[in-house]
Amino acid sequence: MTETTSTEAPVTIIVGAGQAGSELATSLRQQGYTGRILLIGDEPHLPYRRPPLSKAFLAGEVGLETLFIKPAATYEKLGIECLTGVHVEAIDRIARKLRLSDGRTLHYDWLALTTGGRPRKLAIAGADKPNVHYVRTIDDILRMREQFQPGKRLAIIGGGYIGLEAASIGIKKGLKVTVIEALPRVLARVTTPEVSAFYERIHRERGVELLTGIGVQALDGDEQVDTVVLADGTRVPADIVVVGVGLVPNTELAEAAGLEVSNGIVVDALARTGDPHILAAGDCTQHEHGFLGRRLRLESVPHAMEQARTAAGTICGRTDPYRAVPWFWSDQYDLKLQMVGLSEGFDRFVVRGDMNTNAFMTFYLKDGVVLAADAVNRPQEFGVAKRLVGERVPVDPVALADESVPLKTLLPAA
Ligand code: FAD
Repeated sequence: MTETTSTEAPVTIIVGAGQAGSELATSLRQQGYTGRILLIGDEPHLPYRRPPLSKAFLAGEVGLETLFIKPAATYEKLGIECLTGVHVEAIDRIARKLRLSDGRTLHYDWLALTTGGRPRKLAIAGADKPNVHYVRTIDDILRMREQFQPGKRLAIIGGGYIGLEAASIGIKKGLKVTVIEALPRVLARVTTPEVSAFYERIHRERGVELLTGIGVQALDGDEQVDTVVLADGTRVPADIVVVGVGLVPNTELAEAAGLEVSNGIVVDALARTGDPHILAAGDCTQHEHGFLGRRLRLESVPHAMEQARTAAGTICGRTDPYRAVPWFWSDQYDLKLQMVGLSEGFDRFVVRGDMNTNAFMTFYLKDGVVLAADAVNRPQEFGVAKRLVGERVPVDPVALADESVPLKTLLPAA
């Protein structure tokens, strides 16, 4: 059965009720869109924030209700129809219709794909046993955290943000934690060897056994995994295994509809796909980035929200390209790491503060301009660093390193 809609009001359907989907829906209203909005998600929940999943929610310090981005009443008030627990199975681009898992067919005028991604699975024996956990959804954490009992042996495969955040919660909860990272250092994909070394020291000091430069070949055990077998045959005993080895963007729906996909749904700086009626935003996109001047795929809340606003603007007839400076954060123990910009291609590394303490900043410069910065427990100065990166401010590296020079004095005069 095809649900038809009034001919006057355009219909925007957003597929994927996550961070980007929720922002796109509400931003449409903020930008004056008066048509019908349907937000369809296959999880059984209204859109929620994922960052607390590997932090306070895994620790059991915050309840489920704190995760939701907006209460149901807000969507109602804004006239946003939320369909949860429904998977969009196919797009018919010629008829501009969607086929839903509940048998319905819906017509759209605008379609926005905010389908996010799913955890990369380990392709090794034993990876499907019930004590092997991935970290993406509320339900993943509810299953995992009941096993986080003091004294249990937790093996974490992957020393990226998610693995290290899970390690810090494991330690806090009294588990015996081992982190196994195939690359030679933790956080290798997102930061420099110096910052990686700082985090390796912190984790070791707090009691994590950290094994780098070694892969995993198997997960042994009968019904449950009891041993992680490393590439060199070393056996790491484990009661719980957490896997954080990256994300696979959910692009199958777009690909089956004939949209261009290349490590993400390909969109331009206005979040448009090659189909004039279809946009995409968030973790699932491979996008043209106005500020960075190149194509990439980003996985972060600020990106999901900014690109969703761009997509909403495009639907509303605006033409402002997406150019927000990328930034990210991670909480481990009592350390807040905040990162802005992308450090690749830097020619000068500057430390502000002492990396032997728990509060410092690192800056990455190219041709005298700040490309990127990492801040550990320096939230105020991080705000200034965002401006230094975003405004491409030329700086004196000596002044940047000198704590007696307030960072904000390096900003151009208003
Ligand atoms: P998602 O939030 O993944 O939403 C996509 C939704 O679409 C999902 O619910 C999915 O099930 C649904 N969907 C997919 N296909 C279909 C379909 N065909 N039909 C219906 N529904 C569909 N970012 C930070 O900036 N800081 C952090 O500290 C941080 N911590 C994180 C910790 C964890 C544990 C995780 C998992 C992520 C973290 N992130 C963090 C990343 C951040 O949460 C993501 O970048 C953000 O959620 C991306 O939003 P999104 O809307 O693109 O995708």
